[in-house]
Amino acid sequence: MPLYDYECVKCSHVFEVYHKMNEGNETLTCPKCKAKNPKRLVSQVKTHAWSQFLDKMEKKINPHKFK
Ligand SMILES: [Zn+2]
Repeated sequence: MPLYDYECVKCSHVFEVYHKMNEGNETLTCPKCKAKNPKRLVSQVKTHAWSQFLDKMEKKINPHKFK
């Protein structure tokens, strides 16, 4: 299940949520102030893709490290 970062629009509290792809954010509430509809941040996904890219590059440069 993917992990998403959400930012509360009311108090700017950032929290992480595991949820299914087809699930919307209308059921989510801020754990701090209980405000609804937090804003989804995409940083988590980007970071993951970037680390996968770096892994691939390192396998090319240092293949012995991955045996
Ligand atoms: Zn909040």
